[in-house]
Amino acid sequence: MREAIAEGQPVQASADSPEKAICPACGGAVRKRKRCNMDRQAVYFCQRETRVGEKRPNRHHH
Ligand SMILES: [Zn+2]
Repeated sequence: MREAIAEGQPVQASADSPEKAICPACGGAVRKRKRCNMDRQAVYFCQRETRVGEKRPNRHHH
């Protein structure tokens, strides 16, 4: 996402925006990450939602 809440204010992810902020959707912590593209766009990732999305069932070795 491009928007997050920092110090009670909505902010757009950018080079100058804070490293840590709050997710406007769920109130969880978000961290800023920069894409490795040419445009160098910064985006916020919600840790809570990322963790859920990355959750994988345990696999057993056979
Ligand atoms: Zn969230």
